[in-house]
Amino acid sequence: MASGESRASYFAVNPALKTYSAPLAAGRGTAGARIIRPMPTPAAPSPRLVIFDLDGVVYRGPEPVPGAAELVVALRAAGVAVRFATNNSMATRRAYADRLAGHGITALPEEIVTSTWATITHLRLHEPALRRLLALGADGMLDELRGAGYDATPAGDAAGLDWNGEPLARSYDAVVAGLDPDVTYRTLGIAAAAIRAGARFVATNADLRYPTPRGLVPGAGAIVAALQATTGQRPLVIGKPEPAMLQAILEADGIAPEDALVIGDNPDADMPAARRAGIPVILVLTGVTDAAAATALNGERRPDWVAADPAAVAALLGVSLS
Ligand SMILES: [Mg+2]
Repeated sequence: MASGESRASYFAVNPALKTYSAPLAAGRGTAGARIIRPMPTPAAPSPRLVIFDLDGVVYRGPEPVPGAAELVVALRAAGVAVRFATNNSMATRRAYADRLAGHGITALPEEIVTSTWATITHLRLHEPALRRLLALGADGMLDELRGAGYDATPAGDAAGLDWNGEPLARSYDAVVAGLDPDVTYRTLGIAAAAIRAGARFVATNADLRYPTPRGLVPGAGAIVAALQATTGQRPLVIGKPEPAMLQAILEADGIAPEDALVIGDNPDADMPAARRAGIPVILVLTGVTDAAAATALNGERRPDWVAADPAAVAALLGVSLS
């Protein structure tokens, strides 16, 4: 850290907080931003539950974000519950817990929130009559749906609907669509037929693209868009930037929005999801957003606070990293 730069590397961008006192150090590309020094106690968040986004916050691809593991430990030591939320629908919560362990973070599967788990929680709490599901998704999604007690049929195994116009052999209460790496023209047709026949159309998330080491590939949203175009039906979208995933976390834990905190790196996903759910949100600069871009955010894309890294989040929350 350059000399003269404040040790406080977070700043508030919520215009309701009027106690700006010092310009952020030059050289960080944050002209016009102000550090709160010290962060006034009433304005600093003191959450009971912190919801971490994963990629760009806890890890960047294969690499852990420095300080993230220590921040999780510090929050737990302070009695704060943590959840790890991802729009990904393909892997089970246990698989994510194993992945976090590889980054030095001990997490229970129950602390992991995939868009599939959030979809299950949403259905359980709000649509209990929907039991027979047609699943257009990866094996991990099917495992989670069945593990939660649903009568879930993978679209690839669904009988009926061939080129002679044979109807589906059974009806479904809902179609749950996520990222299905084995999607085919036939499975899209089966899912569309189920929706046209009256099944609720539920999307785990609407991410149009999915990043891989080889570049961007179609995301769940690309599959969902094909179904929407075919059926003319709009899906219920659970994942970020919609609020349903975050709301499912709050409902499952009985936490009020103002007692929770979201930490994310993506102004197009994490910020609007938190805003729509009424949850305060910190933008960290360890992922897809740099400081200059952070200060230019407006509307639903605007966070309450910006923090350079996990250490700055710890300072803002008043917990110390070991
Ligand atoms: Mg992210």
